[in-house]
Amino acid sequence: MGGYRQASWNEGLIYEFSRPGLVGFTPPPIDDDIRSVSERYFKHLPEEAVRDSLDLPEVSEPQVVRHFTRLSQMNYSISTGFYPLGSCTMKYNPVVNNRLAGLELASNIHPLQPEETVQGCLEILYRLERNLIALTGMARFSLAPSAGAHGELVGCLIMRAYHREKEGRERRRILVPDSAHGTNPASAAMAGFVVEEVATGRDGCVDLDSLEKAMDNDVAGLMLTNPNTLGLFERNIGRIVEIVHSYDALLYYDGANMNAIAGVVRPGDLGFDIIHLNLHKTFSTPHGGGGPGSGPVGVVERLVKYLPPPLIEYDEEKKIFRLVLDRPGSIGPVKMFYGNFGVLLRAYAYIVSMGGEGLRRAAMAAVTASNYMLSKMSMVRGVSVPYGRGQHRKHEFVLSLSRLRRETGLGALEVGKRLLDYGFHTPTIYFPLIVDEAFMVEPTETESKEELDRYVKAFEAVIEECYNTPELVRSAPHNTSVSRIDEARASHPRTLTPSWRVYRMRRLEADTTTQPP
Ligand SMILES: *Cc1c(COP(=O)(O)O)cnc(C)c1O
Repeated sequence: MGGYRQASWNEGLIYEFSRPGLVGFTPPPIDDDIRSVSERYFKHLPEEAVRDSLDLPEVSEPQVVRHFTRLSQMNYSISTGFYPLGSCTMKYNPVVNNRLAGLELASNIHPLQPEETVQGCLEILYRLERNLIALTGMARFSLAPSAGAHGELVGCLIMRAYHREKEGRERRRILVPDSAHGTNPASAAMAGFVVEEVATGRDGCVDLDSLEKAMDNDVAGLMLTNPNTLGLFERNIGRIVEIVHSYDALLYYDGANMNAIAGVVRPGDLGFDIIHLNLHKTFSTPHGGGGPGSGPVGVVERLVKYLPPPLIEYDEEKKIFRLVLDRPGSIGPVKMFYGNFGVLLRAYAYIVSMGGEGLRRAAMAAVTASNYMLSKMSMVRGVSVPYGRGQHRKHEFVLSLSRLRRETGLGALEVGKRLLDYGFHTPTIYFPLIVDEAFMVEPTETESKEELDRYVKAFEAVIEECYNTPELVRSAPHNTSVSRIDEARASHPRTLTPSWRVYRMRRLEADTTTQPP
C-alpha cells in the first residue's frame, strides 16, 4: 500500500537565481500603433505612477521552466490524483476547455476594445447566459460576479433593493441554516444584514419549526444550499418555499452543489428567486490555486431590474451583440468589464460539449459514486453517519470520526494527513460545523470505480493504523515534500521562510532608493 512519494526540492525564490544580463524571453519590438495608443494612456497617469523599470528577476528560460516545474512537483493537484474535497468540488476538468480559453482569439482581446471587434466573445457570453437560464429556470443572469461568495453578496444586495423599493423600508435579517458554508453568513453580514441560524433536524434537513419561529416581516430572505452540505436534498423544499414566500421574503439558492442536480432539477422550478453558480466548481475551470473564478447570479423575472451591469443583449435591428451598461434600478456594477472571460468561456465549452443529457449523466454518476463510497466507508471501524441515517446521499456525504477520536485519540485531521502518504488528497474536514470530527467526501463523476476502491482501501488501512500503530498516523505525512507544520506559526509573518525575508529586504532597499527626497 502507499508507494506515493512527493518530490522534495530545496528550491529558492526565483529572485535568488537572478544574474544581470540573463535573458529568458525578448518581447517583439513595440510597433508605432501600440506606441501611440500607450502614449495616449500614459499621458493621463500621474507622474509618480509611471516607472521605467520593473524589479523582475533576470533569468534564463530553462531556469524559469525548471523552477516552476519543481514547485509544481511539490504540490498535490487534481492532475496528480484523486482529490475528494467535499463542497468545493475538485473534479478533473477536460483539458480541451483549457485549450480553448488559451486561444489567442480569447486571451488576447482587450476589455476596452470596441464592441464591433469582439462580437464573437459577446456571442459566447450571450449563449452561455441562455444555457444557464435553461439549466436553472431563472429569467436572466449577470455574468459579472467573480466567485460564489461574490455572487452571494450580489444576491443579498438584490434582496435589500427589492424590499426597499417594495416596502419603502429596510428588512434587517437574513436566515441561514447551521449547516451552511461560511461564506453565506459572511456575505449577508457584509451586505449589512443581521444573520440568524436555522437549525438542522436529525434527518439532516432544515428544521421546519425552527424556520417558522425565525420568520417574520423583518426577514429579507433565506439562503439555502440544496442538496445541502450534508449531501442531502431538502425533502421539504416545497414547504420551505411556501413559508418564506408567505412573508414576501426571498429564497437564495447557493449553487455550489449544482453538480448533483444539473440537468435533473431546476432551482427556479423549486421556487428559488436568486441563485449563484460556481462555474469554477461545476462547469470546468480548475480552481486549486484560489482563482480566478466566476459566480454568475441568476434571478426570476421580478428581480431582473436589480441585476448588476453589464447584461448582454442582441440588437435585432443592427444584428450585433451589445453590452448594456446603463441599468436604472440596478444595484450597480460589482466588477470591471464583463467578468472573468476565461472561466465563462470554459463553462460554455463544457456545457455545449456535454449537452443536456451529458450534464444529467454527470450528475447521476457523481451521485452514484458518492452513495457507493458511503456504503463502504460507513462500515469501517470508528466511523459513524451523523445525520440522515439510511437516506441516500447526493454528490457528497459526511462521516463523523468522533468514535475513532474517543478510542484512539486520533480523528479527522490525522486520518486526512495520513491519507496523503497513500497519494490521496485530504477530504474536507471539520465542516459542516454541526458534525463532530466531520469527514466530508465528494468523489465527483470523474473517478473510475477502481480509483474509488483504492481510496476506500487506503481509508481502511489508515483507520487500522490508528488502532495498531497510532504514532505512525500522529506524525504523518511522511512522504510529502513538507511534513507536519505548525499551522499557527506558518501563517505568522515573523516565520516567513528565509528567502521571503531576503526578497522583502531587497524590496525595502529598492523602495528607499527610489523614493523622492
Ligand atoms: C465553495 C462554496 C461557496 C463559496 O464559493 P466561492 O466560489 O469559493 O466563493 C459557497 N457555498 C458552498 C456550499 C461552497 O461549497
